[in-house]
Amino acid sequence: MSLREGGDAVGGLDAIRGTLPGARANARSVAALTENPGCTRRRVIDAAGVAAHELAEKLGHPTPRGQSPFAIEGGNRFEDRLKRRSGYELLVDALARYVDLPKPPDLIVEDVNDIGGRRYTPEWMDARVARTDDVLSQIARGDEHAPHIVDHPVLRFDLTGVTVNLEPDALAFRVGEKLELVEIKAYPIIDGQADPGKLASTAGQSAVYHMALRATLERLGFDPELLVWSVILVAPRNFGRQPVAHRIPLKKKSMSLARVLKAVPRTPDVLATLPDGLTFDVDPAAKLDGVALRWALRNAVESVPALYVPECVQNCDMAKFCRWEAWEHDDPARLGRTVRDNLAGVHSLADALRLATSGPAAGEEELADVAEALGDTYAAIQRARARVPTAGVTPPLPRASTP
Ligand code: SF4
Repeated sequence: MSLREGGDAVGGLDAIRGTLPGARANARSVAALTENPGCTRRRVIDAAGVAAHELAEKLGHPTPRGQSPFAIEGGNRFEDRLKRRSGYELLVDALARYVDLPKPPDLIVEDVNDIGGRRYTPEWMDARVARTDDVLSQIARGDEHAPHIVDHPVLRFDLTGVTVNLEPDALAFRVGEKLELVEIKAYPIIDGQADPGKLASTAGQSAVYHMALRATLERLGFDPELLVWSVILVAPRNFGRQPVAHRIPLKKKSMSLARVLKAVPRTPDVLATLPDGLTFDVDPAAKLDGVALRWALRNAVESVPALYVPECVQNCDMAKFCRWEAWEHDDPARLGRTVRDNLAGVHSLADALRLATSGPAAGEEELADVAEALGDTYAAIQRARARVPTAGVTPPLPRASTP
């Protein structure tokens, strides 16, 4: 994540990351944040630009992630063929059912990566942001020499109080006075159908780009309604190399994303609640052995509150560590969102069982209603058990140690 905001927030985030290699924000990380907006840990990891998968690996709980190198290579080749190797002609052909674009040499393409300067430096990113702003303004004004395609744009927007640069491999297309968003994927569309999981993930990521593009248009003083409420997905037809395009509606997803992000506390306010001197760079001089490093890192990470739910496994690279932690602490959240919400204020499943069987202890009066509901449920289970052949078996206590 690239951070541009001045003041204490950036200083605090820099200290949390320390000398660890930075990770840039992407649509997946923003989508993960919106899936679990109440998780402070995810917010801090993203805002500080720490690579969550590397952190999880150092903690001893790596998450297998993403595509294989072969799939990534195949995807890059497919995209390169649509763009550079065919002079964008293949892409224009694939989009023809939705978008009427001129063919080369009349097609005007702006590849923002070709801006010049030393790549991957902050200055290069700033120049790409400025160029993206410039060409989007030309398009929004209806300039006749504005590009038809903006490739590798960089969208800068405010994500809960921290400025973020997003780099879609999506493209902005000018069609009359409208902008279209395009996403190129290498998974096949077979007989007009794509894998539902992959399609949902593409829609989630595209919704993030859509929201960022709307925010950019607004920041530049233009009507965000210029952007069509959908993304055009371009992917291989069946298992061949020919591309095919499909439009995916985004209005509901993009609007709910914007609502979620509006409702969560701003990152500078979240940072103010963290322990002084917090850093995930616990061994900058590389003096600790593997076990000591893991313990030091675990203490640092555990000092930032998490809000684990089983769905984290699909969305967040920290999920294996947080799941282990939830089991370690016997956290009711490991049984899912509903249990977590219904048992709010009950810190462990062992406590839940105690409340069910013995009622609230002194000082737990505010848990009386939870204890009553748990007691009723426990009695119902006991009655049911008494009617089956296993009657009389004592229910096992929830585990309180590492699985
Ligand atoms: S896996 Fe952990 S860090 Fe990630 S969202 Fe879930 S609780 Fe938060």
